[in-house]
Amino acid sequence: MNANLSERLAQDIRRRGSIGLDEYMRAALSDEREGYYATGNPLGRDFTTAPEVSQMFGELAGLWCVDVWTRLGEPAPVSLVELGPGRGSLMLDALRAVASASPAFMSDLEVHLVETSASLQRTQARTLGGVDIPVRWHESVESLPETPMLLIANEFFDALPIRQFAYTVQGWRERRVGLAEDDTFTICLGDVAERESRLYTLVNDPAEGEIVEIRPEAERIMRFISERLSKHSGAALLVDYGSGMRPSGDSLSALGRDGFVEALADPGAVDLSAWVDFGALARVAGDVDVFGPVPQGSFLRRLGIVERAERLRVHADETQAREISTALSRLIEPEGMGVLFKVMALVSRDLQTEPAGFLDAERFKGDA
Ligand code: SAH
Repeated sequence: MNANLSERLAQDIRRRGSIGLDEYMRAALSDEREGYYATGNPLGRDFTTAPEVSQMFGELAGLWCVDVWTRLGEPAPVSLVELGPGRGSLMLDALRAVASASPAFMSDLEVHLVETSASLQRTQARTLGGVDIPVRWHESVESLPETPMLLIANEFFDALPIRQFAYTVQGWRERRVGLAEDDTFTICLGDVAERESRLYTLVNDPAEGEIVEIRPEAERIMRFISERLSKHSGAALLVDYGSGMRPSGDSLSALGRDGFVEALADPGAVDLSAWVDFGALARVAGDVDVFGPVPQGSFLRRLGIVERAERLRVHADETQAREISTALSRLIEPEGMGVLFKVMALVSRDLQTEPAGFLDAERFKGDA
């Protein structure tokens, strides 16, 4: 229980009235002292992400970047950027693969990590301590350098704050966080959301009780990335759990040490996330080509993960070989992360073809 953060949020609500789910989520995850990502090292304890499942994930992401860079004519200098790098494992694995595949890419490279948590920044610095190319940290994408870039974001967008609206007889009303009589957090409805005019275009014929989620911060970051890519060229690889279609309903979930818990139960002590609406992100991307979202399993197979696992097994003892096979299944099979997780790519128009792992037919064409 994170009593202080809960108490501060409760006081805030008593003083100002209900707060948006976005405000609640931002505090619960990113509060400087007591947010989930600020305290200790929750990643790996409560949930395991793809780069923590196997080194193959980061290696293939790195090789994907090299491939795009080569096809773009090897622009230099170039930035390799990661949003929300967690423990830094993906970047470490990516750099190892890149170093042996393309010394030229390595020599023109600067690494930029966008991370709000000071404690995770320290973890990343430790992980990447032995890397001999410059690594810089940023609190937000706005300070990234004006260079061509290859950007990777794994399970980053699902952690960005959402807002929810419910359709009622009066119209759309925001689902906000208030206090119940026993002082626990509870969802309550705000005023009719007249200014949120886009809600009226999101759902054509809403039924009473229908819930929609929007993610303004994610859309802002998408716009920024696509502008940068179209100006300086490069690509972005986004991997997350979610759907190509607008998810309907309340997808906010909370994961703690013992599995899923009630979403508003314990701010700061549990991981909060919500489905990523890839369609919404793709639609705000400006002057770039968007591919996907495709299932993570298909993407990784096309990049050769099965063959990579095979090669790793050659040098492994029996236990390690079993671990490699288990990790492979987790990453690509439908029972693991193979279908629920999706991959979307943004590429600057000068790439002209589809990036590795995608087919031309998987160009994002809106909701048609
Ligand atoms: N990509 C990692 C970690 C995923 S957890 C992995 O796959 O293992 C989400 C990460 O995003 C954490 O590092 C968290 O601190 C960071 N994060 C969350 N919100 C952020 C924001 N608004 N800006 C930058 N980083 C953020």
